[in-house]
This record gives sequence, C-alpha cells and structure tokens, in this order.
Amino acid sequence: MKILFIFLCLLLLWSCNGKPYNSQHEIQKTIPLDKDVHSYANFKQINTQHLHLELEVDFKSKTIYGIARHKMNNRGAQSAIFDMKGLLIQKVTLGPKNNEAETDFTIGPMDKDSLLGQALMVKVDSTTQLVNIYYQTTTASDALDWLDTNLTSSKTKPFLYTQGQAILTRTWIPIQDAPSNRFTYSAEVKVPSDLLALMSANNPIRKNSNGLYHFEMKRAIPSYLIALAVGDIGFKDLGQNCGIYAEKELLDTCVKEFEDLPQMMRVAEQLYGPYQWGRYDVLVLPYSFPFGGMENPMLTFANPTLITGDKSLVSVLAHELAHSWSGNLVTNETWSDLWLNEGTTVYFEQRIMEALRGKEIADILAQVEFRELEQTIAELKNDGTYEQSKLHLDLVNKDPDIAMSDIAYVKGAFFFRTLEQNYGRVALDGFLKKYFNHFAFRTISAEGFIDYLKTHLIEPSKNKFNFQEWIYNSGLPNNCAKINASRITEIEKKATDFNSGKDPFGAKVKYKWIKKNGKSKRIKMLIDVKYNDYIIQEWQLFIRALSTQTPIARLKNLDEQFNFSSSGNSEILCDWFVLAAQSEYAFEIQPKITAFLTKIGRRKYVLPIYEALSKSPKGLELARQIFNITKKNYHSVTRNSVSKLLYK
Ligand SMILES: [Zn+2]
Repeated sequence: MKILFIFLCLLLLWSCNGKPYNSQHEIQKTIPLDKDVHSYANFKQINTQHLHLELEVDFKSKTIYGIARHKMNNRGAQSAIFDMKGLLIQKVTLGPKNNEAETDFTIGPMDKDSLLGQALMVKVDSTTQLVNIYYQTTTASDALDWLDTNLTSSKTKPFLYTQGQAILTRTWIPIQDAPSNRFTYSAEVKVPSDLLALMSANNPIRKNSNGLYHFEMKRAIPSYLIALAVGDIGFKDLGQNCGIYAEKELLDTCVKEFEDLPQMMRVAEQLYGPYQWGRYDVLVLPYSFPFGGMENPMLTFANPTLITGDKSLVSVLAHELAHSWSGNLVTNETWSDLWLNEGTTVYFEQRIMEALRGKEIADILAQVEFRELEQTIAELKNDGTYEQSKLHLDLVNKDPDIAMSDIAYVKGAFFFRTLEQNYGRVALDGFLKKYFNHFAFRTISAEGFIDYLKTHLIEPSKNKFNFQEWIYNSGLPNNCAKINASRITEIEKKATDFNSGKDPFGAKVKYKWIKKNGKSKRIKMLIDVKYNDYIIQEWQLFIRALSTQTPIARLKNLDEQFNFSSSGNSEILCDWFVLAAQSEYAFEIQPKITAFLTKIGRRKYVLPIYEALSKSPKGLELARQIFNITKKNYHSVTRNSVSKLLYK
C-alpha cells in the first residue's frame, strides 16, 4: 500500500499544472512574497492560527506519515500557499475532520538553488478556514536526523530528532514557514511503544504502553520552533518547573552537570521578568546534533558535548534559557535580523553567567567570543564579503544560514554591551524588561526595534548613540565596549612568550617561611603549573593565540604536559586539533582527530577542523577520507556545510 502511495505522490509532484517557474527570481515575480524572502506563503492574505498534527513515526522506513490540519485566518484569499521541501503530498482537503472535501492543489517546481523548496498552492474560497494536508517525509527531509542504534547511547534503540531553524520545518511539515507568522499547535504522535516522544510543548515524563502521545503548545510560536524527538528517553525533575530529559544511560550525568538550572531561571527572571512558558526542560540529544543547543520552547535541545563533568560549558544552557525571552517571546520578523534574536540572547547569557560565576569569569567567557568575532570580521574582509559583517543583512536570494555567524551573536551582544556602557546598566535593564514585555509573543524588525530604542532609551537620556552605524554598517564601530581583565592579559602573554621561544609553563621558584625546631626558616619551592590552574576558556585563549608556525616538537611537548589532544572537553579538543591541522602534527595525532570527527556532529567543532585540514593538499586528502567515513553520522546541517567546504 505504501509503494502505491509513493507512486501516486511522485505522479502528483511531476504533474504540476500551471506555468512552470525556472528560478527563485521568477517565482518571486509570480507569487507575491509577503515581505519574507525565504517563504512562498501568502500569510498576509490567509495564515495559520492553529496547526494540529497527526503523525506516525516509522523507524523501519525512516518516514513520518502525517496530516497537517491548518486552522486558518482567511481575509478573502482564493488560494492558500504553503512552503514545502522534500515532502510527498498525497491529497489536500478542506473542512473539519471526518467531513472533508478534496480540493485542487499545485506544487511549484524547486527553485534554482533548492533553497526555498517548493510552493504548495491550495485552492480555497474566501470562506475556507480548515485546510488539511496529507503527506509523508522523504530522504530529502533535511530537518530529520534518523539515528541508527549504533549512534545512540543505548546501542539498542534508534533515535529521531528534528532541527527546524532557519527554514527546515518545511521539510517535515507543509507549513507557512516564516518567523513572522505565529500560531499555536497541537499534535497526536504515534511512535513504537518502546520509545518516548517529546515536542516543544507540554511533555510526558514517561513512556506509555501504546506509544501514542498528545501535545499542546498554547502560546503562539513561529514555525521554526516546532520540534520533535523520539527515543529511549528518561526524565528527572530538578524542581522549580525545570527538568532534564536524556537517553537513560546519560541521564544522571546530565542532571549533575545541569543542576544549576533552577538557579539560572531565578537569575533570568530577576533580570528581565517572569518566564512565560510554564515548564522549562532540557533534552540532551545524541552526539550528531549539529548545534550547541536549540531553544525549542519549553524543551531546549542540548548537545551532549556540554556534559564535561566540570560545568565548564553551561553558558550554552544559560544562552538557550535566555532565548525564552529573546527569540522565542520576541522574535526576529525575518532572518535578516537574526541579531535581534541572537545578539540580545548572548548579552542576556553573559549577564546570567556574571550573576552565577562573577564578573571576572563572565568577562573571560565574553572575551573568547570577542576574539572569535575579530577573526570573523577579518575573514569576511579578506573574502570580499565584508558587507556580511552588518547586523542587518540583505538576504535576498541568499541562504538564511549566512546570518548564523559571530556577527549576529557577538557583534549583536557587544551592541548591547556598548549601550550598557553608554546609558548605564540600570537604564538598559529597564529598557530590555519593557521591550520583552511590550513585544511578547510578537515579531520585530530592525526598524521597529530602532523606534522603540529611540523612544525608550536614547531620547529620554539626551545621550546620542550611533545605532545606524552599528546596525547598517560593516565592521565594528570605534565605541565598541572593551573587556579589561588581568587574567586575560596574563594568559595571552603566556602565548606571546611561548611563540617567542620561551617556556611560560616551566616550574616557578617560590619562597616560603616555615617553622622548624622553633626557628623560622625560608625555603625554596618549585611549583609546577597544572592544567586546572586555568579555566577552559583561558586555555582556549592561549591555544588560539599560538603561532601556526610552532615546530612540531614544541607542540608535542605542550601536548604531553597538558594532554590537550586527550582532553575530555570538546572546546579544547577542537582548538587543539585546528592548530595541529595547520601543521604536520595533525598526522601524528590523526587517530585522535578521526575519532573526534567520527563521534561529534556539532558543526561548531567539526567545520573548523575540516577547514584547517583543507588548507594543504595533503590535509585536504585526509579531510575527504575522514568525511567519507563520518558523513553518515552527521545531521544534514553539518553534512551540507562540510561537503560545501571540501568539494567547493
Ligand atoms: Zn541562540
């Protein structure tokens, strides 16, 4: 029955009537785009108010069979346009469940660069409110990561998760896929009875015997925040409406690492007002997850590389929690202003970390990011793409993924740090609190933000600010806030010393007074520098400041002294492997690099190592060899990025 179904769907895909479109550009001329250049949907004429999903998750065929029931707000439209990519559409009906009538629909061709996917145009009349789309996913459904048992902790149960941001939700649900279109959703999800299903909604805490789960998200969210995960997952409550989900084998370790979550929540609420989503839970995913975290509302998806045993990377959790205000509550209207989601969030994250760990540590964390930002801006300048260092980006005919860079995140955060420096913390905090409250469950553009900023922060103080330069110009304005911390100067000096041939970590001579036989005596002591004398982020600053011309023997000595290439922390491993990849040292520690790239799928770690390797012909050959083995372990987000890099 399923084979016949696929055949029918293929027939429908190839028999699109109407004038064929040749490129994305032509589609833009033909279909009026409602301001969002990454969606075909006509959501200004007719838009989803509530989406009800009926899904069956089939691990054997790696397919989701679904019905997307859209309850629509119709302002007289004759056609409802949805986004879709990599989906097979069986039929479209209008009307309430069990009293539905089939309607005509047309599927536009894929745009030239396969970025937006296809427009699904459904015939409706001006009174239509209920549109039901019967569909199934395919191997081209890029949001879905189907993990075989060998890629999970249990090694006996498979796993599935989705990643919707930026425009991948259309690859597993036919939907009006634009962030400015907010709606509530509910779902009935059928999964194998030995697995648990979770969504970005209210969630079950244990498996049931029939494998059928019901979900409700009662607050209006943009489509990229719909998320699903299915696996052999357990749950532990942390109190205060917070909890952790993870594969059972990892659960206790994850709970220990993230036990400060309720405290983070208290700090966040003190800063910018009440948390508005009910529960806040975190799901720790398997290692293929391409991001550090994804702020799916009520259920952050987190990368297992955050579990280090020493809580050294929990700032990512602070980041995802902060998104419950910046991004999820107040959302960028289009992907051109991703900085409104991410810059605000990184600033918020830095404030949570400061409250938890103190200003000195928070500043070191921020400085690591600032150095990354400086490097990104320099690279954009070199590559002739300096205009991508603007906060507000022109993304016409461009992949919205371009916006996911240090510009939106760190330049965005330093925009807020500089506002703080200019107007004082009390005034900025008051502004942000009002901003989150005023725009709650709404979307905002750069122009809307500027209007609000002028009225509520700049004009009341009579103190001018170069916001136009910050938002619309390339590079970093001169008034950018600076971080001054003696520990940063100290560790960066050690790197300078090392680069000039000295040994900054040699045993130090110290003198100490002791009492012996009633007499005071001054003794000489040799103190070794130990790995734990510095925090992870100080080591990162050190490694990143090392010369790529360092002789292999010296890298080897350093590695023996501090065990960088056997570190349990992925940040250290990534930075060290990137340095090694720029010299022949990579070939000495090749098994360790291969093991890391095989296990980890987080793009932030994987991509820079491949990139560093690809700079020499021999390294490129090695990178391609490794990628051929490891690519099956990666989510499409990581796989596509690495593939573009190695085969450009
Ligand atoms: Zn973020």
